[in-house]
Amino acid sequence: MDHIWSPWRYQYVTRAAPSGGCVFCDKAAAKDDAEALIVHRAKHNYIVLNLYPYTNGHVMVVPYQHVDSLTAADAETAAEMMDLARATESVLRQLYNPPGINIGMNLGDCAGAGVAGHIHLHLLPRWPGDANFMSVIAETRVHIEDLALTYARMREAFAA
Ligand SMILES: [Zn+2]
Repeated sequence: MDHIWSPWRYQYVTRAAPSGGCVFCDKAAAKDDAEALIVHRAKHNYIVLNLYPYTNGHVMVVPYQHVDSLTAADAETAAEMMDLARATESVLRQLYNPPGINIGMNLGDCAGAGVAGHIHLHLLPRWPGDANFMSVIAETRVHIEDLALTYARMREAFAA
């Protein structure tokens, strides 16, 4: 069986926000970062844990600006996204020491974007065989304890 890596098909935080608005804008405005799973806030972007991680350590870099393409983002915002991707790569290596990392972005519904109206950059550590493991359980279970632990470790690593 051919395997196409597509964690984007998992419905992480894609349920419509209660307000009917944008889930990433709502998170940006959150008063409680821990509740929103925001592990780091920078000037133009924030970094948030994926509620339904493909692997432990799956995070997203999300601009405060509500835009549906990289081209539409401010130059400063786009540049900072890459800076934060680099910082996140470093944090993932420090915390998980994974043999591989995926970094990716989907623009538009047909590309697999869960929230097509607001761009976000996925970063996730990868291990041999993790796809097989996750395909069995990823959509059926959320490990709250794991997520809380991931949050605490990430938050501390980004603050360092
Ligand atoms: Zn938005």
